[in-house]
Amino acid sequence: TYMDTADEAVRATCDDATICKRFATSKGYWKDPYIQYFARSVGERKAPEINRGYYARVKGVNHLLDAFIRNSECNCQVINLGAGLDTTFWRLKDENLLPKKFFEVDFPTVVARKIHNIKTKPPLSKHLIETHSTDSLILDTQSLDSDRYCIIGADLRDISALDEKLKKFHLNPDLPTVLLSECVLVYMTPSQSSNLLRWAAEIFHTAMFINYEQKERFLKTGWEHADALDMMTVYSMLPQDDVARMECLEFLDEKELLQQLLQHYNICWASKDKLNLGNSAVCK
Ligand code: SAM
Repeated sequence: TYMDTADEAVRATCDDATICKRFATSKGYWKDPYIQYFARSVGERKAPEINRGYYARVKGVNHLLDAFIRNSECNCQVINLGAGLDTTFWRLKDENLLPKKFFEVDFPTVVARKIHNIKTKPPLSKHLIETHSTDSLILDTQSLDSDRYCIIGADLRDISALDEKLKKFHLNPDLPTVLLSECVLVYMTPSQSSNLLRWAAEIFHTAMFINYEQKERFLKTGWEHADALDMMTVYSMLPQDDVARMECLEFLDEKELLQQLLQHYNICWASKDKLNLGNSAVCK
């Protein structure tokens, strides 16, 4: 059917993101020793402005995520919605920033592929086993559940099934929680994405929602505080010594092209802060 084809095209976007990230890391834009296990080859050359755009996206999102985790002294949860083949779990483990539990949600077929990679690549499975102490490891084609890492196959447009699955895998609504969606909400209708945002605002009392997307109105769906920065501004706020290092990697002829590209995207974040962790100020 038309819908199945449309969903299949959406699922395929996880490869686009991974291939672009793999290429940029192969050029030294930032380090990610795990992405090679999710994208078979480095692939075709990408234009420097694309690589710089990914650099700003990864650095900007990581800045907010890490600040929240540090604020809570790792006594929190992360839920990566539409995580695709993202490698953040392994980065946080390496940086001693692992939250109490790291959840990922994506379509079941994407999840099955990711779990297959984890099972067959020791550098990936090693971290999972190291962070797991009990005998309750679940590892089948549909889902993975260990003490610190959980991957769930679900459709983000079906909130009640999503809620049920997250609770089945011991999501704790009382823990400070970061929800992350990186280029995901854009594949849903405005009413589907606001249902998701509303659900998140309802079940957590202390939380932050980080959304990376093309510029659009951030819907205030029960969140106390919401902010957005376009990626040109984020770019200018990143640590400038690393930006200078990165800008030397590849010559960029058309600076205006990069500016135009970055201005089309932004990072929005919304927060609720009953526990007064100062989550709305993490970007200051
Ligand atoms: N967040 C990852 C990243 O930045 O590398 C992947 C981004 S990719 C562009 C979009 C991801 O969202 C895909 O993995 C896709 O399968 C997932 N996605 C989109 N709509 C979804 C839905 N309704 N339910 C579950 N996953 C969805």
